Amino acid sequence: MGDQIPDSSPDPVPRLPIAGTQFFYRVRRIYCVGRNYASHIREMSGNEREPPFFFQKPPDAIVLNGQSIPYPPGTRDFQHEVELVLAIGGTGTNIGLEVAANYIFGLAVGIDLTRRDLQVAARKNGRPWEIGKSFDHSAPVSAIHAWEPRSIPTSAEIRLSVNGQVRQHGDLAEMIWKPPEIVSQLSRLYKLEPGDLIYTGTPAGVGPIVVGDELEGSVEGIDAIRVNIVE
Ligand code: MN
Repeated sequence: MGDQIPDSSPDPVPRLPIAGTQFFYRVRRIYCVGRNYASHIREMSGNEREPPFFFQKPPDAIVLNGQSIPYPPGTRDFQHEVELVLAIGGTGTNIGLEVAANYIFGLAVGIDLTRRDLQVAARKNGRPWEIGKSFDHSAPVSAIHAWEPRSIPTSAEIRLSVNGQVRQHGDLAEMIWKPPEIVSQLSRLYKLEPGDLIYTGTPAGVGPIVVGDELEGSVEGIDAIRVNIVE
């Protein structure tokens, strides 16, 4: 115990490939938006009038495309949520809505993996969501695709299949907070920095996954992320 401290290993920072280049995007923080699609709020019996909100996952929860995910401990209801992911490329606080898109370096597709039973129990008891949302291997994400801020899609199909069967399908147009608004809102609470990922919420159709399942999440015109669940 403790012989890894101080750590002399070369680079413990999780990093994602930047598609079409030989470069990598170093992940600093992972933010997530809760309740950003009305269809998902309805299936979770939530109040559609309450605004979206934020939570975090640890950066080392990143899972790369093609990797296997061990079924997590402590749950009997492990669920998928496919999401558009924003990769921040600039530093800022209190970012105005009209310039917020300029802080987005790129786009990716992620899956916000959730221990739903623990999340729901925490919510019911007025406790933090952390054990339901922020755990090992809970943040699969595709490569980052550098994107022109003026052409961030306002409409595109977002879907998730399990073993080839479509479970979630929606459209980015359904998002309550659009990407620039998410960046602007989040920057009122935290100083945004390059390396910050933002998972932007999920459409309806979330559901349980089990050992042996193969997941594919995609956003039309961006990318897909494929992972499988193991013991
Ligand atoms: Mn989510």
